[in-house]
Amino acid sequence: MSNTRIEALLEAPFVMTIDGTSVTAPKTLGVINPATEEVIAECPDATEAQLEAAIRGARAAFASWSQTSFEERREIMLGMADRVAAAARDLGSLITAEQGKPFAAAVTECESMGPGSLRGFSEMELASEVLIDDDARRVELHHRPLGVVAAIVAWNYPVHTALQKIAPAIWAGNTVILKPSPFTPLATLRMMEQLRDLMPPGVVQTLSGGHEMGRWLSAHPGIAKISFTGSTPTGRHIMASSAESLKHLTLELGGNDAGIVLPDADVEAAAPMIAQSAFNNCGQVCHALKRLFVHRSRYAEMCDALVRAVSTMHVGDGMEESTRLGPLANRMQFEIIDRLVTDARDRGARILCGGEPLEGAGYFYPPTIVADIEEGAPLVDEEQFGPALPVLCYETVDEAVERANASDKGLSGSVWTADTEAGARVAARLECGTAWINQHSAQPTANHVSIPFGGFKASGVGRERGLLGLLAYTQPQVINLRK
Ligand code: NAD
Repeated sequence: MSNTRIEALLEAPFVMTIDGTSVTAPKTLGVINPATEEVIAECPDATEAQLEAAIRGARAAFASWSQTSFEERREIMLGMADRVAAAARDLGSLITAEQGKPFAAAVTECESMGPGSLRGFSEMELASEVLIDDDARRVELHHRPLGVVAAIVAWNYPVHTALQKIAPAIWAGNTVILKPSPFTPLATLRMMEQLRDLMPPGVVQTLSGGHEMGRWLSAHPGIAKISFTGSTPTGRHIMASSAESLKHLTLELGGNDAGIVLPDADVEAAAPMIAQSAFNNCGQVCHALKRLFVHRSRYAEMCDALVRAVSTMHVGDGMEESTRLGPLANRMQFEIIDRLVTDARDRGARILCGGEPLEGAGYFYPPTIVADIEEGAPLVDEEQFGPALPVLCYETVDEAVERANASDKGLSGSVWTADTEAGARVAARLECGTAWINQHSAQPTANHVSIPFGGFKASGVGRERGLLGLLAYTQPQVINLRK
């Protein structure tokens, strides 16, 4: 992708989509490239009046959209998927510019992950059931749409996360108001502009703005459901402000995933996979491996293997082909990682590699492995959401399971062993929504549209993807007919 092309993509104004038309706002928010710390574009900061207009548009559109057939919706969704995939390089370069991830990963997000949600949900059957059918009566169960869904999105996978919410919502007959993160609105706004003519006005609208916009959406009585991806504290706020209007909620929140390496594990094979899980997207993945528990008999070996595995991970601007780790996506996250690693060092943990921000402009932090660290250190107890992996030592499997489960989070977890059946039994004891054996957040199943994903405990409410995810955008209605 040439610099001239990227400059042209950034120069064209970024607009919102309200009721099928382009809308700007009286104020704008600057968007920063985390690789340079420069403001690269401005996005509209939507007003409350614009939110009201969008809600009116979404409610009006719901009346007819909810009555369309699955065939009509499928045709539109497949058209949307093709158009996003065709624009993947342009959208991908915007993601790299606003979020930092390597360009190839950004293109994959737009070429296959996002479109995969649209295509996958449009094949998912939302069947009605006949519960009773006898001489006297017929009782049927139907899945009705909810109304207007607000999709509130984080900054780590802006396009994928948005489409993962839009696809099931519109497939089930709802209309959507999408709010991207203020850190990463650009690719999303451009994508929605390009999809606009494919669907009736008001079916999917995009409002960019700050956290205030999220608060307005979650308190508004015209919104039937909030589908949220973001941090656990924000999830709590949303639940509280949704209470008054009793909204339906899907909350995909933070994680602090534990991996347990059993004494019989193949350490050489496991280390690169563990490193890939912990450092993919610069560690900014909700289901990344974030705490590694290793049996004492294999501890030194695993630490060495992890250092070797990350030694080839080049840190740099996401537009450079050799880059495996881009910058952290924003200053806030960069400062969190720096604080957690500095604290770990100060309390006597061993920094095996990395451990200092790179000099110069940009939020660059190298892959960092931290040994001889325990619970009580914030790097272990808090979600780091960045490229620093604490490696903890344990003596017995029961102890490892107990320590893995001691977190208030429970998104996913993993067990590493030569005995996969025994591993599966240990995995079943982990308090988390997805338990992996000899892998962790690994493709092709990590984001598969038919596999439900979500967390135990403070990692979330409900599930995304799969039939469970789709049903969360519906409400059951019983039709009870006396013959
Ligand atoms: P965040 O909670 O700060 O923001 C997420 C979104 O919520 C943004 O669009 C933001 O503007 C909006 N928002 C902020 N305050 C709000 C409020 N009071 N009411 C309504 N909306 C509000 O999260 P983030 O920093 O963007 O994302 C990082 C977090 O997201 C991490 O904890 C990560 O684990 C989590 N995450 C979870 C998943 C998952 O599927 N479980 C996926 C990705 C990220």
